[in-house]
Amino acid sequence: MTIPVRYSIVVPVFNEEAVISETYKRLTDVMKLTGEEYELLFVNDGSRDRTASILKEYSDRDSSVKLIDFSRNFGHQIAITAGMDYALGDAIVVIDADLQDPPELILEMIEKWKEGYDVVYAKRTQRKGETFFKKQTASLFYRLLRASTDIDIPLDTGDFRLIDRKVCDEMKKIPEKSRFVRGLVSWVGFRQTAIEYVRDERLAGETKYPLKKMLKLSMDGITSFSYKPLKLASYAGALLSAAGFIYMLVVLYLKLFTDSTVAGWASLIIIQLLFSGIVLIILGVIGEYIGRIYDETKNRPLYIVRDHYGIERKAANSIGHK
Ligand code: UDP
Ligand code: MG
Repeated sequence: MTIPVRYSIVVPVFNEEAVISETYKRLTDVMKLTGEEYELLFVNDGSRDRTASILKEYSDRDSSVKLIDFSRNFGHQIAITAGMDYALGDAIVVIDADLQDPPELILEMIEKWKEGYDVVYAKRTQRKGETFFKKQTASLFYRLLRASTDIDIPLDTGDFRLIDRKVCDEMKKIPEKSRFVRGLVSWVGFRQTAIEYVRDERLAGETKYPLKKMLKLSMDGITSFSYKPLKLASYAGALLSAAGFIYMLVVLYLKLFTDSTVAGWASLIIIQLLFSGIVLIILGVIGEYIGRIYDETKNRPLYIVRDHYGIERKAANSIGHK
């Protein structure tokens, strides 16, 4: 008889051959300390290096190692989602593969969970070894997101967190495609608490989050949890048409009651550029939302699994996002 899995550790991996062995070792050492049954559920998000073959080897040797192998790169948030779909544990921990989030904190999370919390998220008090630009833009993003939404999304908190089985089951019912997982966990609710930590440097390799992916993540975060950009667009429109109306009165006055109808080329050009710029920005904002509506309506599956290792069919059949 198999012992039921108590803890599932979900690790999304994308080209992490430089760190993966150390990550496996550190996670295993920590999880052994719990004395309970656990699984290390790696989700290979279309790596082009040896990550998947290294993990396959581990799963042959160690029955706690499981691997879901995507057919291509679907993105970090989708990889986490797949991990939650396949996880069997009573508590599920999501952690990055690069050891920026210290695995030892999982024990602290488990303690909080045993006290009765359903979500234990890890808040970064400090980030080491990241560029000034990354820290500033991340900090700005978390504050912007918080200001624009009514959902209580904690500041400076990534996806490193523990969630209870019931939270995971609720997450699996959420069908949306532009997934901002940390926001969705807040949205689901239940009893949530934080622990604080200092975020380490990446152990080896380079960040898998270039500016393009960071921008996509932040747009997904804001558009999934707020209409404020749309509201701001309409306020900007209202303000500009009011300004335009006032200027029209001035121009009419000058035309009708004075002789000083100036050539006005400069002011015309300025107004033209300014207004069309703003109109284009507003269109862009609307476009961001429409693009996401389009993604939702196509209703494609969130991800495609090429193969899995160390996972029984039963688990594969019970996933939420087919
Ligand atoms: N990752 C992923 N798919 C991607 C990009 C990243 O699964 O398309 C994984 C990556 O392997 C790591 C985690 O997501 O485990 C966080 O990525 P990274 O550490 O590069 O981001 P950063 O810490 O620099 O923001
Ligand atoms: Mg990292």
